[in-house]
Amino acid sequence: MNGNLYHLFQSRFPKDRGRVFIELADGHTYSYADLEDISGRYACLLGELGVEKGDRVAVQVEKSPEAVFLYLACLRAGAIYLPLNPAYTQSEVGYFLGDAEPRVVVCQTETEKAVTEVARKAGVAHLLTLGQNNDGSLPTRARGLAPIEGCCAAEPDDVAAILYTSGTTGRSKGGMLTHRNLGSNAQALHETWGFRPDDVLLHALPLFHTHGLFVATHCVLLNGTGMLFLPKFDAETVLRLLPRASVMMGVPTFYTRLLARADFTAESCAHMRLFISGSAPLLEETFHEFQTRTGHTILERYGMTETGMNTSNPLDGERRAGTVGFPLPGVEVRVCDDDGKPLEREEIGVLEVRGPNVFIGYWRMPEKTEAEIRPDGFFITGDVGKIDARGYVHIVGRAKDLIISGGFNVYPKEVELCIDRIAGVAESAVVGVPHPDFGEAVTAVVKRTPKSATPSAEDVIARCKTELANFKVPKQVHFVEDLPRNAMGKVQKNELRARFA
Ligand code: AMP
Repeated sequence: MNGNLYHLFQSRFPKDRGRVFIELADGHTYSYADLEDISGRYACLLGELGVEKGDRVAVQVEKSPEAVFLYLACLRAGAIYLPLNPAYTQSEVGYFLGDAEPRVVVCQTETEKAVTEVARKAGVAHLLTLGQNNDGSLPTRARGLAPIEGCCAAEPDDVAAILYTSGTTGRSKGGMLTHRNLGSNAQALHETWGFRPDDVLLHALPLFHTHGLFVATHCVLLNGTGMLFLPKFDAETVLRLLPRASVMMGVPTFYTRLLARADFTAESCAHMRLFISGSAPLLEETFHEFQTRTGHTILERYGMTETGMNTSNPLDGERRAGTVGFPLPGVEVRVCDDDGKPLEREEIGVLEVRGPNVFIGYWRMPEKTEAEIRPDGFFITGDVGKIDARGYVHIVGRAKDLIISGGFNVYPKEVELCIDRIAGVAESAVVGVPHPDFGEAVTAVVKRTPKSATPSAEDVIARCKTELANFKVPKQVHFVEDLPRNAMGKVQKNELRARFA
């Protein structure tokens, strides 16, 4: 049995290969036959460039159907796909190329000159370009080639992709994900979210991250159905396309942006079956507002680059605000103290996960791998949380975001939840900044709702005092227009710590 992930996908493609795989916002479509043809020709070109099993192919391009086909071509050729955020600077790209030593780099036509320079320094053998309109040397050179048949034989434990973690501190680490990791997770999600033969997914996520590349795209490929494919999230276009979609996956920001529009109504969602959220915490307020406005209950799930998805709220059964649901089939989740001793339900500690979804380690960093994967196979996620009495998993923050003030542990999430309940607050982020006396001082950064002049800093502090122990009450409160977020909607706490130190 071929363990190649593409082999699994192919077994699920529709018999009628003329069926739509991707439809763009302008109505242009690509069928499953196109998928097989284009990815087969790209795989042929990679072979001609000398790409062998296990060689890395680094790709820094904007989102396009061809970028999806290039990913599939790498699987088919047995190469290791290495996606890079187009926002990375040349010096960042230089680091990734030096570390991963890819045989081939694919970049945008616009960045060719600059990338050629860093690729040369890293000793990369071949550079190809791919524009957003099917232009560039990759599609041109692949045009006359004969598509390869099927895909090369792979073992389930062969590496299929390396995704560098966003790494807010220190060097970015390349998480090695195998065909088994990706395939098992895709199957668990496809089953858990009850994909149906008539489902149409609205895809507005980036393609360089686990969420858009794996979670969303793999569910569609396993379902053998189509997706409405947007270059990026744009509320106007999403609203226009929602009546033709049945499933949407998004980061919380997608949902708050939709709610900010008065023309987003229950009617807009009449054709929808499921809204899924992840990659960053969904505010309870957003969860409830969405429910009231549309009648739909957002399903929140939790995962990360190194593990794919770990938990999900149920499709049937209660989806609880502020929780990320239950472990997926085949995945074990436990909460431990710093020494790895499992804790009781309701106790807060670090989440650890084990299962076929968990990556095999960091590229060329055996010490880091050893430090984060326990001998019994549990991966230390670095997320702090608990499992409640009913078995729902809660996340209260990242271990590195934990604030230690005057020797007491403060979980930012608890303080944020208290502040978010104050009238006039849109959202908040709580961080620790250096303090001569307390070590770290709890500091709140608050975004008020539009046009609201309240609460004041004193109001926030007074309210926290009524609900929280004194050591958790913010010493300072700052107001901002917007919280800084990265492409996946995560609040950049490092930036806040630096700004308010
Ligand atoms: P990434 O590797 O970029 O996907 O980031 C993974 C991290 O995002 C996790 O370790 C969590 O800290 C966070 N995350 C993902 N999903 C959720 C969620 N539903 N709620 C809270 N945090 C989340």
